[in-house]
Amino acid sequence: MTQDIQGKVIVITGASSGLGEATARHLASHGAIVVLGARRMDRLQKIVDEIQAAGGKALALQTDVTRQADVQALVDKAVSSYGKIDVMLNNAGLMQQSPLEKLKIDEWDNMIDINLKGTLYGIAAVLPQMKSQQFGHVINVSSVAGHKVTPAGTVYCATKHAVRAISEGFRQEVKDYNLRSTIISPGAIDTELPSHITDSESSEAIGGFYASAAIPADSFARIVYFARSLNLKMSISTRYSIGPPLSRYKRHLLPSRHRS
Ligand code: NDP
Repeated sequence: MTQDIQGKVIVITGASSGLGEATARHLASHGAIVVLGARRMDRLQKIVDEIQAAGGKALALQTDVTRQADVQALVDKAVSSYGKIDVMLNNAGLMQQSPLEKLKIDEWDNMIDINLKGTLYGIAAVLPQMKSQQFGHVINVSSVAGHKVTPAGTVYCATKHAVRAISEGFRQEVKDYNLRSTIISPGAIDTELPSHITDSESSEAIGGFYASAAIPADSFARIVYFARSLNLKMSISTRYSIGPPLSRYKRHLLPSRHRS
């Protein structure tokens, strides 16, 4: 399996914490060259330094995925440094749960810009290069929220449903170019994700649920490793779900007046 990771150039957005960071460290430890983007450059640089100190290859570029030019610059840096791109992991994301009636419109905009447009910008940045290479693999991060809609999760769920729609459209459109695509739909995984919720009731409900049920971030990293390692010489689409059992989500993620 390591053969299909060794020397592969893997761009990861949202690599400064959580799932992106865990994946960068895991793949680099198996010989991948990781190119990391996020806004917190101090965090990225520390990850790069530690990967390099362990004998791995990594570089980082400050990237705000809401800016198409930043995402393009990240991918261009990967290609100019290493001559190709094997995998684009569109991972950067934001979850800010709140009931619609709270009208947290700035938070809606942020989630749409980061989760939805950020994923599209990632695809736009790699597609011409992958088409001309005639190989490449785009991995998009959806969520359980991309399959189920919960009250107070409406906009986050909408963005993660959209990520699945974009991934499916991508799969249908790139079949002729020998490209691969994967959707990963995580459930609760222990990261900074819930810390951005500003609605107190949602924060309490989700914080409590994560404290009791979330699984470690390296489980996601191992799924990415597995998805990448399948040694298939063809255009293929794969889908994975990972997280605590769905039965554990009931009640916890609902604001109190929606619990029966
Ligand atoms: P974290 O909050 O730990 O990580 C989010 C990452 O996204 C950070 O590296 C952050 O970096 C980056 N990010 C946020 N906004 C931007 C931006 N504008 N430009 C570039 N990078 C940005 O959460 P996770 O690791 O959990 O989240 C990773 C992905 O997994 C997200 O898409 C999330 O929706 C998804 N997911 C996570 C689940 C979980 O339970 N943890 C469950 C389902 C899906 P910085 O702030 O430095 O820019």
